[in-house]
Amino acid sequence: MKRIAILGSTGSIGRSALEVIDAYPDEFEIVALSTHQRVDLLYEQCLKFHPKAVCITGTNLPIETIERIQKTGITVFTGAEGLKEIAVGTGADIVLNALVGAVGLVPTLAAIEKKIDIAIANKETLVMAGELVTHFAEKKGVRLLPVDSEHSAIFQCLQGEDILSVQKLILTASGGPFFEFSEEKLKKVTVKQALAHPNWDMGNKITIDSATLMNKGLEVIEAHWLFKIPISKIEVVIHPQSIVHSFVEFIDGSVKAQLGIPDMKLPIQYALTFPERKRMQADRVDFYALKQLTFFKPDFDKFPACRLAYQSIEEGGTAPAVLNAANEVAVQNFLKKRISFLDIARYVDQALQKHSVILRPALEDILTADLWAREFVNKAIDREEILPVSF
Ligand code: MG
Repeated sequence: MKRIAILGSTGSIGRSALEVIDAYPDEFEIVALSTHQRVDLLYEQCLKFHPKAVCITGTNLPIETIERIQKTGITVFTGAEGLKEIAVGTGADIVLNALVGAVGLVPTLAAIEKKIDIAIANKETLVMAGELVTHFAEKKGVRLLPVDSEHSAIFQCLQGEDILSVQKLILTASGGPFFEFSEEKLKKVTVKQALAHPNWDMGNKITIDSATLMNKGLEVIEAHWLFKIPISKIEVVIHPQSIVHSFVEFIDGSVKAQLGIPDMKLPIQYALTFPERKRMQADRVDFYALKQLTFFKPDFDKFPACRLAYQSIEEGGTAPAVLNAANEVAVQNFLKKRISFLDIARYVDQALQKHSVILRPALEDILTADLWAREFVNKAIDREEILPVSF
């Protein structure tokens, strides 16, 4: 029996994870769940999975629902501190970090400290503090099990292989809904258009990140840290069908790929059952129905966000944390219709230009850089100020 704590159980990844776990009640036990503000759904999840504790991070929430959860005998924690509590204090064997954004970093570090394996779906943790988190996990002998579909694909391709025999990693990207848009058309993209992803059903933040290709940029950084591969050996290829989840090319020219239908339950289950595989009731790849798999070179002039991500890793230190925080704020403002789609990358670029990088940052440096970038972008948007762009 593996005991699982899910941070972010009411989001897209969290709900898929509970479906995976529900199919194997003898294999898994849920010990902790959390939500930001979907308290009603959390209550339903509590009735079904009976965790020991939950955490609610949002504020101004209906007290009745919170009390209803407490009446079932489940301990209710709140806030960022509460996430730490449920990650380390519920006897979990694996913490599935399915939080969105920078809030995922601190509970991850707390779980590593307690030598609890992490199934990592919260890419911002690795983008902000990849060096810190991966070194710490290595030191503590903690496994970081990738949940992102591309990283799970690479992880699966690397089983039984020597990392030194890897020539390059090739991450696939669906290209998002605007892959074929002209620059003129991109200028007029609406929030509604950006939220309609062709292949994956995901939360709002990541759906916008997919449309700008920032998501792929964040994933390049994530792959760099997870697999310890130099950024120059990580490439991106547009693959609109989302069937090949990524490739690994080896030094002899051999290329391995992992394929599957676009359903997050597969990489989630692999992370939770690793090194085993278990049967899954789901659709299978139907090659006759597919007919073709196509691949295209990404256009970083049209979608500069991905290039900015590469650039931030080359700058190193706190630069990726600034990229990530600036992007989070810019995306929030796009969703509120305060800035345009193309402005997202412009504000991120601006934050990177203005930031003084701290190399080999400690946690405090990362959190300070994160806060600085948020304030910087918020203020720049308030003043409607955009500096000349570097791309
Ligand atoms: Mg992904």
